[in-house]
Amino acid sequence: MKKYCLFLAVIALLTASCAAPKGENASANPADKILLKDFNPIVVNNLPVTKVDRAKYTIIDMHSHDYAVNQEEIAQWVKVMDEVGVEHTAIMHCSWIGRPFEEVVEAYAPFKERFRLWCCFDYSDMSEEGIQKACALLERYHNELGAVGVGELGDKGEGDTYARPVEGKDIHIDDPRIRPLIRKAGELKMPISIHIAEPYWMYLPMDETNDGLVNAVTWHVDTTNCYGYNKLMETFENALRENPNTLFIACHYLNMNHDLPRLGALLDKYPNMYMDISARVAESAHTPRATREFLIKYQDRVLFGTDNGMEADMYRKIFRVLETNDEHFYVPEYGYHWALSGFNLPDEVLYKLYRGNAERIIKEYK
Ligand SMILES: [Zn+2]
Repeated sequence: MKKYCLFLAVIALLTASCAAPKGENASANPADKILLKDFNPIVVNNLPVTKVDRAKYTIIDMHSHDYAVNQEEIAQWVKVMDEVGVEHTAIMHCSWIGRPFEEVVEAYAPFKERFRLWCCFDYSDMSEEGIQKACALLERYHNELGAVGVGELGDKGEGDTYARPVEGKDIHIDDPRIRPLIRKAGELKMPISIHIAEPYWMYLPMDETNDGLVNAVTWHVDTTNCYGYNKLMETFENALRENPNTLFIACHYLNMNHDLPRLGALLDKYPNMYMDISARVAESAHTPRATREFLIKYQDRVLFGTDNGMEADMYRKIFRVLETNDEHFYVPEYGYHWALSGFNLPDEVLYKLYRGNAERIIKEYK
């Protein structure tokens, strides 16, 4: 019995020495020294890791840019698209610091079947006469150069700063001066793809309560001298209401992943609004059940988009989220500390998201 007690005492001592560090800093918690930006956890769970090399249905990507710098890169991109299952890709000329639209048209001409080009509004002359000229230019881009839409316009508070070659500083989407352009786009059946605001975390205090802190801190929006989140949403809603014959595609879930009921209410109210899921994988996949429910409910109004380069792996990361039931995985390059999970979308929803809805728009909107 004595021997047994001694044995237990030794075990207790050993256990204690394993649990607490020795020496002066016996009370220090090593986790106190880890910065949030360095948090890089490795999943230990024995969970399914599903590889989706090719999309279940051939995709129409409604949101990308002129990433390819030469013909070889465009050809390589087409190879990747074939590999992962992308039929064609929308190239948004606005928001891309690069060559003029005419040059983009020329560069992608040999791959006409695989890329559709979207052009910009011209804000170089904001007088009434200047806007009429801009309308004529839009018509020329559409009729002669094959532009199928306008985008990506972008307003993070200071106006449409995405526009090229002239920024639309202080020109918000509900500005009466550009109404003729928006209506012209509607008339020409050119949808307008628009990026409004940024994810909500970027507007909140950069403190310990900010749920998106590790990303938000470098992506922060300073609204001191410009429109804030809600004011921007108001401008977008005004544009939807005032231009019922123009189709708007709100990029990136309208940067409203944090409030899907609010996003759904807008879709309910405005039939001229669609949204794309581009570049918001982490912002949606950390709330997989709510997002899944949302995508099922609004399955006729959501579009696939990437907005993130030309690599096969980039596409595959998105497929994993949309198609699988995998859970609790990290994708550090999205910039957050959140674990993500797949949506496991039903086939008919996946089909509409990947191509069905885009096909309908292309048919109706040329
Ligand atoms: Zn974009």
